[in-house]
This record gives sequence, C-alpha cells and structure tokens, in this order.
Amino acid sequence: MPTSIPIADCFDVLIVGGGAAGLYAALSLPGDLRVGLITKEALSLSASGWAQGGIAVALDSSDSPALHAKDTIVAGNGLCEPEAVQFLVEQAPAQVKVLLEMGIAFDRTAEGLAFTLEAAHSRPRVLHSADTTGRALIQTLTHQVWQRPNIKVLAQAFTLGLWTRPQTSSCQGICVMVEGEIRWLRAPTVILATGGGGQVYAQTTNPELSTGDGVAIAWRSGAQLRDLEFFQFHPTALTVPGAPHFLISEAVRGEGAHLLDSHQHRFMFDYHLWAN
Ligand SMILES: Cc1cc2nc3c(=O)[nH]c(=O)nc-3n(C[C@H](O)[C@H](O)[C@H](O)COP(=O)(O)OP(=O)(O)OC[C@H]3O[C@@H](n4cnc5c(N)ncnc54)[C@H](O)[C@@H]3O)c2cc1C
Repeated sequence: MPTSIPIADCFDVLIVGGGAAGLYAALSLPGDLRVGLITKEALSLSASGWAQGGIAVALDSSDSPALHAKDTIVAGNGLCEPEAVQFLVEQAPAQVKVLLEMGIAFDRTAEGLAFTLEAAHSRPRVLHSADTTGRALIQTLTHQVWQRPNIKVLAQAFTLGLWTRPQTSSCQGICVMVEGEIRWLRAPTVILATGGGGQVYAQTTNPELSTGDGVAIAWRSGAQLRDLEFFQFHPTALTVPGAPHFLISEAVRGEGAHLLDSHQHRFMFDYHLWAN
C-alpha cells in the first residue's frame, strides 16, 4: 500500500455491491458489526432494480419445495447441482417471509398473495409487484439499510481490487477510487456481490454497470473461478435499431406467448422439450 494515502475507514465486513445480494447480505449480518456497503453508482442503480417478473417460491398451499425442485431440475436440462437447487427451494419460503415482514408490496388477490406462472414452472409460484418487482425489492431493502446504524453506505466508490497481505495473500480489505482518489478500506472479511457481466457481450438486457467486476477482482487476487459459462441470456427483448434492448418479461410466455422464428416456427422445441 502506498504510504502517502491514509487508511480512511475500518470495518468488520465490507460488501462490494448494493444490489439485492449486497443489501440482503448487509441486513443478514449481526447489528453489532461495522458493515461497509460499497457501490460504484448511486445505491438506487443496479440490475436488481431492473428485475421485472418476480421471485419464484413454493409458498402456496398447493405447492411444495419438492415440486419447485423438480421443475427447476427439469428446466436445467441435467446441468443443475441438485444440492444447490435443494438449498434454493428450501430457503426460499423463509427468506420471502422475511421480505414480507420488511413490508415488500407483492401483488395480492382477495385470497392472499398473487402467484403468477412463468416459463418452466408447473404451477403459478412467482411473486411479483406488477412488472417492477426489482424496484419494490430494492426500495424495501434500501429502506431497511437506512434504519441500520451499523451499515455505512459508500456510493460511487469504484472498487479496483482486493487489498491483500503480500506475505500470505490473505485479504485485509479493498482498494477503491472515490472522487478521483484512491482509498484503502480495511476489513477482515470482504464479500463481493457485484452482480453479473452481461455487458461483456455485444447483446445484453443488463444495465451498463453489469461489467463482471467482481469476477475480475477475485481472479486478479488468485481466487478460483468456476461455472463461468453460465450466463443467462434472456430470450425476449425489444429489438429496434438504435434503441436499448430492454427486456420483455418472462411473464409474457407464462401467460401463453410463444417464441417463433421468422418462419413462424416454434424453434425452441428443436433444442429443449419443455421450452416454448
Ligand atoms: C431487465 C432485467 C430483468 C430481470 N428480471 C428478473 C426477474 O424477474 N426475476 C429474477 O429473479 N431475476 C431477474 N433478473 C436478474 C436479476 O436482476 C439479477 O440476477 C440480480 O439483480 C443480481 O443481483 P446482484 O445484487 O447480484 O447484482 P446487481 O443488482 O447488478 O448489483 C451489483 C452491485 O454491484 C455494484 N458494483 C459492481 N461493480 C462494482 C465495483 N467495481 N465497485 C463497486 N461496486 C460495484 C453495483 O454498483 C451494484 O450496486 C433480471 C435482470 C434484468 C437485467
């Protein structure tokens, strides 16, 4: 570390990323820990805020985590890790209940929560807030973060890398660029929650900030990376020359729309039995 640059702050945990993953990680930590939440843009800007369709969860009385797991495994076409799927479907109901306790405004019917059907699910199980579910989620989580005096948000702080000890390569914090100045923030624990990297590709529905920084940061510090081929490309987006490719929600197919090629052929069946 250059000696001329002062260490500005010391934290117990630093979280790089203020999307759903970063915000929820910060809220899940004990309230007596000093948590720093770092974002390269304003806190309100993230892919999470752009999410539309919703959150799949087996909460309806006619549903179960086992059915949710079965649908997920089929949709994964043999590529899912069963333990990871199991963890997801079993954790989802409890975590969604936490969001409900925080006051998230999911759509409701007279009977209760409104579940919609999306592609690959055998029954309606997607909770949503109109088609701006991500915005509702981020607003709810951000509101909670502002209530927590132990969480300090440092926005527009571009994380350049992990700050590692030369002798052991163990992590002791991060290096950030704030208002043109390099600063070193110390913490024994650093969580990288920097989201996806869709912008690496020519065509994407991700926001401009989705440049895969966390993967690069981790790689440069010697972390082992895995499953890098698993990039989700959303199948439906607006294609108008000169306009951004904004996403057309999966709910469209859940409600009965089909994917057709220029010959009106439902081409996805050529690749996957369950696709539409
Ligand atoms: C249009 C659209 C619709 C979607 N719809 C759905 C949906 O209906 N359901 C669903 O489950 N998923 C949906 N997704 C996917 C979902 O939004 C993402 O998987 C999820 O938001 C990722 O959350 P995250 O917290 O990991 O990352 P993000 O929300 O992208 O947050 C990344 C954070 O990291 C910060 N960051 C990045 N690099 C740095 C750096 N170098 N230094 C400091 N900070 C940095 C950013 O500032 C940001 O705060 C959708 C995505 C898009 C783009």
